[in-house]
Amino acid sequence: MTFYDYKQRWDWDKMTRFIESASAADVERVLAKGVNISPEDFAVLVSPAAAPYIEEMARASAAATRRRFGRTMQIYIPLYISNHCTNHCVYCGFNCKNQIGRVTLTQQQIEREAQAIQADGHPFKHILLVTGESPRHAGVDYMAESIDTVSRYFDQTSIEVQPLDTADYEMLIGHGLHTVCVYQETYNEARYPLYHPAGRKRDYRYRLETADRLGQAGIYKVGVGNLIGLENWRTDAFFTALHIHYIQNRYWRTKCSISFPRLRPFVGEGFQPNYPTTERDLLQLITAYRLLSEDLEISLSTRESPRFRDGVIELGVTTMSAGSKTAPGGYSDWEQNKELEQFSVNDDRPVSEIVESINSHNFEVVWKDWDLSLNRNTSKLSRSAL
Ligand code: SF4
Repeated sequence: MTFYDYKQRWDWDKMTRFIESASAADVERVLAKGVNISPEDFAVLVSPAAAPYIEEMARASAAATRRRFGRTMQIYIPLYISNHCTNHCVYCGFNCKNQIGRVTLTQQQIEREAQAIQADGHPFKHILLVTGESPRHAGVDYMAESIDTVSRYFDQTSIEVQPLDTADYEMLIGHGLHTVCVYQETYNEARYPLYHPAGRKRDYRYRLETADRLGQAGIYKVGVGNLIGLENWRTDAFFTALHIHYIQNRYWRTKCSISFPRLRPFVGEGFQPNYPTTERDLLQLITAYRLLSEDLEISLSTRESPRFRDGVIELGVTTMSAGSKTAPGGYSDWEQNKELEQFSVNDDRPVSEIVESINSHNFEVVWKDWDLSLNRNTSKLSRSAL
């Protein structure tokens, strides 16, 4: 059984009605349970009835986050290495129908990008490699080579690329792959094809089962999420929470993180979100996910505004990107490559300003995730203790 089979027990429309009909008494009952609540209880916390309880949720989320993560904030930087794409996601600037320049960086160009990031003087240790989905331009061998290249500059590499088979993930883990982010965009199977009319991404089930393949391959961490604005964000959040709950129980050695991609303006067809969300809605989501799981890493990207990102530092977020450019070649030559960007970032402050803001909350910036070598040593210790 995979998550695709497991998810069949829940119906989208029924869950939407369940969420819409939750009452204040339901919210109070769930809040009394504390942290590590069920996905159904999570659904109550993302309901309209929970909106007046946002301060109480924020307090509970902040306390749970301090207990588990202390006063720390992990920082990473994304590196876009290819914007070739064979898919036609209607909401994305890289889609194959969009007439933009296309580039896939060579290993020498990737190296130049890595050097440009480090030349800024910030000790980034964790990099996220991002590509469009074009196996011909950025296939598995290219990803393996790219991981090898950036590993000379960074200690940990995550990827956000096309979904792959289990054997491919095993091979990339052998090259040092640390984390894979694969966002389902929407969990609404009936409406998914409207947003993905052409390309391999049309295959809803293959994408949905990616976390299963990653768990079987033994990945350290998997990142999930949905594109906020496509469909009813409350119902999509429930199914994302269900997915997290499933991964944490089924593949308990694999850590889980959640991100909140919200639709941003991009060059090309002007897609407008069907279900716009406010920053207050986003805060409700962040705090509800923390109460779903105290172990969950909660990541907030530069898609959000500086004011909002600063405001939620203490309220449940554990990871932030900084200094992001979303165009291949954007770090070494922004002027030359800015036309290639996937979307425009909202928080374009220099890294030093973001670090300063985090420090001003009396938080320590962590440039690197938990060291895998410590993991290996810990498991050796626990084996010898048995
Ligand atoms: S969202 Fe990803 S797969 Fe879809 S068009 Fe953009 S880059 Fe390609």
